[in-house]
Amino acid sequence: MSPSINTRLQSLNLADQAMGLKSVPAHRAQPAPNLGGEPVRENVQTQAVRAPSDTMSEKPLQTPIPRATSPAPKAAGGIAGSASMQWGLARPLPNSLQERNAALEEIRARHDSTCPLCTTIDTYTQTVPGEGSAVAELFFVGEAPGEQEDLTGRPFVGRAGAKLEEMMKAMGLSREQVFIANVLKSRPPNNRTPTPIEVDQCGPFLLEQLMVIRPKVIVTLGGPATKLILGLEEGITRLRGIWAAWTPPKGVDLQPIPVMPTFHPAYLLRNYTLETRTQVWSDLQKAMTKLAPRPPASKN
Ligand code: URA
Repeated sequence: MSPSINTRLQSLNLADQAMGLKSVPAHRAQPAPNLGGEPVRENVQTQAVRAPSDTMSEKPLQTPIPRATSPAPKAAGGIAGSASMQWGLARPLPNSLQERNAALEEIRARHDSTCPLCTTIDTYTQTVPGEGSAVAELFFVGEAPGEQEDLTGRPFVGRAGAKLEEMMKAMGLSREQVFIANVLKSRPPNNRTPTPIEVDQCGPFLLEQLMVIRPKVIVTLGGPATKLILGLEEGITRLRGIWAAWTPPKGVDLQPIPVMPTFHPAYLLRNYTLETRTQVWSDLQKAMTKLAPRPPASKN
């Protein structure tokens, strides 16, 4: 085992301890943290949280399929890209933190004034561009803003957002250290699932954000985000926990970026079982293996 992975596993044990969970040897399956300190209630459904779309209600498969461990099922982006994309195509990719922040701001402004979807509908309050570090190693991709996000202009600030923050905390990360954005930058009417046309219209701005930030790993949250980034038709229950990759649009000088699909936090809230938490925690631990080693989580 490489020193960095060893250090990371030690950190994970400390993170588990910090959350009041017993440390286990690194070679054994890690216990799922409570992901937020709520009491563990096996097979007790929490009150349903309104998912951003009806398709968020991922149903477990009746018949499990054999799980591939490697290689990734497919390495192809689901969103084709667009002629209007700038960064990495018409303009060189930015490098310094300042350049990347300026590029993200440029994308936000250009999105708000030219997005073929968001400039033509009037069913939302404000756009939700995404937020976080312009040099984040970890990029979370959600589906679309929900009610709270629409009201505040910030991604993942409702109950699902609180759960996502707990997941990050368990990873030893804060919101400021990662980047969080959605495939769509405006709330779909009645939180419905984005249509393929809407994704083609608004999705390229997310791709530009990915290219500007160039994270070490992308974690897709839920079926729709995973399908949209990977272009795969399989449901999240089949895809989660299996490494895939997002391939930048043709002509962009950038290597594919590893993608770890996992369940959406809203799904986790609706299905708050030991099994689901263990699955999500396992996926997040896999994602963490791509991140630079950080100091162990504090015990306080
Ligand atoms: N769900 C999402 O997919 N995105 C958000 O920003 C909030 C909830």
